[in-house]
Parts: sequence; structure tokens; C-alpha cells
Amino acid sequence: MSTSNCQPDMQMELDAATAQSARYLKTIDSELAYLALLTREGLKPLSRWEKPLDQAGLDGLEQAGLLTRRVPRSVRNGQAFTETVFSRTPAYIEVYASHFENLPVDKSAETVRVEGFVFGYPPCCVAHYIRRPYAPNEFPMEKQKVLFHWVCKGCILTPLLTPAYERIYRLTESL
Ligand SMILES: [Zn+2]
Repeated sequence: MSTSNCQPDMQMELDAATAQSARYLKTIDSELAYLALLTREGLKPLSRWEKPLDQAGLDGLEQAGLLTRRVPRSVRNGQAFTETVFSRTPAYIEVYASHFENLPVDKSAETVRVEGFVFGYPPCCVAHYIRRPYAPNEFPMEKQKVLFHWVCKGCILTPLLTPAYERIYRLTESL
């Protein structure tokens, strides 16, 4: 099949297998493909998918060079569900699973700290969010939409990360 309609400058950054699996993941959900590429790039040490994901979805993540694990959780009423985490490194999957496996979902400061660490959020933003979630900032909303953390006021780290997030966001859109 011809790939002549692809944008060569963006496609060149992905090997064929990763591009193919990212395209497949995009058919499931474009956010899943975006998270997979951010994680593969190393911008996020680990990512979590909370919606159901079948074996083909897990295979797609693995073909993109990621390790996967299903982590059993529960919601507050006790109902069990399974989330999927993926990472390039087994250590982050271990850290996540050893803390959260079989644990009910919550928004405690401890949870936000562990999640922020494994998801690659700037520590300043995590600490600020714990003190005051979604505090007003001057950060442009069109840049905020490519991120998964709420940016702290006067953040030094986020502007360093944003160009790489935006590049992968555009790459995902172009697939
Ligand atoms: Zn910050």
C-alpha cells in the first residue's frame, strides 16, 4: 500500500512497526495512541489507560515497544475493574503495581504524588496541585490541552516539556 499521502518529515521519526501500531491504537482511541507515543519517547515513564482494552490493544502497545500490565483496581463502592499501564521499563510498572494493585481509586495527596512521579509530571506542578487543584495560571489553554498535568504558576519545567509534547501530539494527529 502506498504511503505517499503521509507527511515524510513526521513519519520518519517512527519506525514502521511503531507507526503501524500507533495507527492501530488510534482506531481504538487517539488519546491511547498519543499516550503510547509519549511513553515510547520517554516523556512519560509510564502511562495508564483506565478504559477497557482487549488483547489486540495490549498487542498494539507491545508492538510499539512498550511493556504492559493489567492492574486490578476497584472503585469506592467496591466494584472491581482493570486498568492497563504501559512503560518502556519494568521498574516503573513494578512501582505502579506494587503501590496501586487492588487498591480503590482515590484522589489523596499520596496517590497524586505517586501518580505524578510515574506519569512524568513536573514535581513543582504536582506539589502545587496537591495544595490547590486547578489553581489559576497564565499558561495558554491551547498548550494545556496537550498535557496531562495542571501547570503550576510560573512553572520552569513545563515550558521545557511542551514543545516535545506538541511535536508528538501533531505526529499522532498526522498518523
Ligand atoms: Zn510546575
